Amino acid sequence: MKPPAFEFLRPETTDEALDALHRLGDEARVIAGGQSLVPMLNMRLARPSVLVDVMCLPALASIREEQGAVVVGAGVRQAVLERWPQLSCKVPLLAKAMGWIGHVQTRSRGTVCGSVAHADPSAELPLSLVALKGSVRLASRRKKRTLAASDFFLGMMSTAMAEGEMIEAVCFPVAGSGTGHAFREIGRRHGDFAIVACAAVADENSTTLAIAGVDDHPRRFDLPQDDGDGLDDALNDIAWSLNARDDLHASARYRRELVRRLGRETVMEARACRR
Ligand SMILES: Cc1cc2nc3c(=O)[nH]c(=O)nc-3n(C[C@H](O)[C@H](O)[C@H](O)COP(=O)(O)OP(=O)(O)OC[C@H]3O[C@@H](n4cnc5c(N)ncnc54)[C@H](O)[C@@H]3O)c2cc1C
Repeated sequence: MKPPAFEFLRPETTDEALDALHRLGDEARVIAGGQSLVPMLNMRLARPSVLVDVMCLPALASIREEQGAVVVGAGVRQAVLERWPQLSCKVPLLAKAMGWIGHVQTRSRGTVCGSVAHADPSAELPLSLVALKGSVRLASRRKKRTLAASDFFLGMMSTAMAEGEMIEAVCFPVAGSGTGHAFREIGRRHGDFAIVACAAVADENSTTLAIAGVDDHPRRFDLPQDDGDGLDDALNDIAWSLNARDDLHASARYRRELVRRLGRETVMEARACRR
């Protein structure tokens, strides 16, 4: 299928992009890597009359460290972050998660912020952002604001982004010493979206597990520190608390079972690799 006709704007500064988004309201849509938006246009699931390209904005093209976080601008493609030499030492969870996102070809075009903005409930980057207690920097013509990842994702492909706003960057906290990280997922084939994906962060005093693919947005839970029945009971409670559904890919029951088993494996791996 072909998309409906649209105008294409390629602003040269962030202010120009924000002006366009403000002026055009819901007629406009940001386009980044186009890996989710173009299929949606082709299937006519989205019908913006103007696309605002954010890939040529110099201010948004960098990965940098700022106040204990790795800040990834809206113009950074997933493959660029994946190849960033400091990734495994600064944000080891992301180093483990990146390879699970689609394929080399999609990562070469798709952006990190685009995946966060798209907010697919099975996507790896939103899950990692929630697991790490990261944040999203939003800008509109009127103001800038920063939201915790847990306040940004509201539901199935639904976020707290307002009309006229765009994501300028997402911030992943730098890993503290003594933390271990693990990322695991089960999908039908490599490169497919996850049926269930788990990301765990563990240190001496706490363990966090975040889960994607079950509820309509990624969810994060604190777990008890034991490795035995306490952990199994907590995972079972989480499995039942999530709003698991049957769909073409898996049953709700299978998803709950994956939360218990994959969740345990992910937690144990994170605890084992504390550094
Ligand atoms: C074959 C295939 C397999 C895939 N498999 C996976 C997978 O396993 N896991 C996964 O997570 N993803 C997967 N994807 C999706 C891919 O990762 C996309 O790149 C990503 O979801 C969107 O990033 P993008 O830069 O391409 O955004 P676009 O497609 O350009 O935009 C997506 C949405 O985000 C909005 N947007 C983009 N950037 C911004 C911004 N800065 N501010 C505000 N809004 C913005 C757009 O308006 C649009 O609504 C797959 C895609 C394909 C084609």
